[in-house]
Amino acid sequence: MAKHQFQTEVGQLLHLMTHSLYSNKEIFIRELVSNASDAIDKLNYLKLTDDNMKSKLPENWKGEINIAFDEEDKSITIVDNGIGMNDEDLIASIGTIAKSGTKSFVEALTGDAKKDSNLIGQFGVGFYSVFMVASNVDVISKKAGEDQAYKWSSTGTGEFEIIPVTKESNGTVIYIKLKDEEASEFASKFRIQNIIEKYSNHIAYPIFLNYQEEVEEELSEEDKKAGKEAKKTKEKRHEQINAATALWTQPKAKLKQEDYNEFYKSISHDSQDPMATIHTRAEGVNEYTTLFYIPKTAPMDMYRADYQPGVKLYVKRVFITDDEKELLPTYLRFVRGIIDSEDLPLNVSREILQENRILANIKQGSVKKILSEIKKLAKDEEKYKEFIAQYNRPLKEGAYQDFTNKETILDLIRYKSTKTKDGEMTSLAAYKDAADSEQKAIYYIVGENEKVLRNSPLLESYKKNDIEVLILDDKEIDEIITPTLGAYKEWEFKDITSVEPPKVEQSEEEKKEVEEKFQDITKKIKDILGESVKEVKVTNRLSDSPSCVVKDAGDAQMAQMMQMMRAMG
Ligand code: ADP
Ligand code: MG
Repeated sequence: MAKHQFQTEVGQLLHLMTHSLYSNKEIFIRELVSNASDAIDKLNYLKLTDDNMKSKLPENWKGEINIAFDEEDKSITIVDNGIGMNDEDLIASIGTIAKSGTKSFVEALTGDAKKDSNLIGQFGVGFYSVFMVASNVDVISKKAGEDQAYKWSSTGTGEFEIIPVTKESNGTVIYIKLKDEEASEFASKFRIQNIIEKYSNHIAYPIFLNYQEEVEEELSEEDKKAGKEAKKTKEKRHEQINAATALWTQPKAKLKQEDYNEFYKSISHDSQDPMATIHTRAEGVNEYTTLFYIPKTAPMDMYRADYQPGVKLYVKRVFITDDEKELLPTYLRFVRGIIDSEDLPLNVSREILQENRILANIKQGSVKKILSEIKKLAKDEEKYKEFIAQYNRPLKEGAYQDFTNKETILDLIRYKSTKTKDGEMTSLAAYKDAADSEQKAIYYIVGENEKVLRNSPLLESYKKNDIEVLILDDKEIDEIITPTLGAYKEWEFKDITSVEPPKVEQSEEEKKEVEEKFQDITKKIKDILGESVKEVKVTNRLSDSPSCVVKDAGDAQMAQMMQMMRAMG
């Protein structure tokens, strides 16, 4: 039947998969198994919420994944009994319509094959990784609750084909014909077991490996003496190769960091170990378990409005959703992990989640827990540097968004200042400690370029008076957020471009005198500059430079505000 063209971006992607992303081929198994697990999750959820679907499934239906390989045929088959796809789904999901992630993925590629292959799962283009190893792929699928099954086939070049076929049960079979020389190694028991253990051990459903093994007939002593030859036969094997436990339900004492890391990799598509792991069981008003991770490197889509939330919601071990941005506040969107509630109803609809009180409680508790873990990280200065390098900016968003936790978050942010050396940063607590207790203000200057800021003539009088000034060079966010912060432990944030400098050692009379003396000259300058300045004044804020430009306190920067709001999603 119908031949279809891949959409341009998908075509580009496939070309990359086959020609440049080959350093970490094995992840295709991780990606296909993760899709199989997602498909079972989806059907599990429907079974719970949709009576019609429930009646169509066999009573004892249980999700499972089967992997088969054939050394002679050089092929691998991955089978799930999940939700399945009909012809439209096949076209939409793995064909003509590139998801938003596809284009961003192509754009984000660095040319470093190893790094790039890490991006595959993060951008939701995992399926296509199969073409790193396949010369041909058939996807045979039947959507749960429907009658007609379809087969999608492609060699990963310009086009794919979909034809109707027969298939007994719902779910998907992915038949992968491996590339002869480069990829036949994957049709091996050892290899597949190894990859599953590495990436998919804690997938919640059992994964079975199916293969044939040659066995030799056991001969009796007599037969041996008689010189009889042992017959060789092939026996079918069917072995579970993953732990298939919901890792987070196990007691902390039983789990090693290695187990946590492995699970992290299976849910995050990251190949690095996480920076921090936070496993908590809450009892009391609400009963729930959370397992959160902070990635070593910030997720690629952290600054995209259409970022993929990193936390999955479960109710009593049953997957509910991984597409709910409200599970954590947006500023913690880099956190990965799961929330498993004992109290939410199993048939909770995704729509009502947002207004749910139980979930609001869980969210609050989770934020407290994550922030306190970050606080722990901060005790190790060297380690904390790595954290700050990735996440200082989302913390700044948090100080602005999360009123309840503002003080805690302000304590976690780090700043450059006139007193920090290259690569060093300070905290507000340290700033306050080091300052004269009479200062009662936190001075800062904002701009784009650290060097320019450090050379600003406005800093002169502060330096003379030995007053530290924070150098905020993440202008896009600092300029909007800092003026809204109000105070840190009663010390108000003050932008030095719009406040009078401290420790004015001139009396009002002296000031007047000077102003009068310079009246003519300031008037002349104002006449020359005209409309481009508001006012020209005599100042004592400078000691070495003759003049500087300052701005009015409260000049709203609407355009930048809008831009930043967009960046924060
Ligand atoms: P992602 O899993 O991030 O969405 P993929 O490229 O891995 O991206 O998969 C694309 C889509 O194809 C999935 O979102 C899903 O809709 C569909 N899909 C892939 N594999 C299966 C499967 N085994 N069963 C059902 N749907 C699948
Ligand atoms: Mg996937």
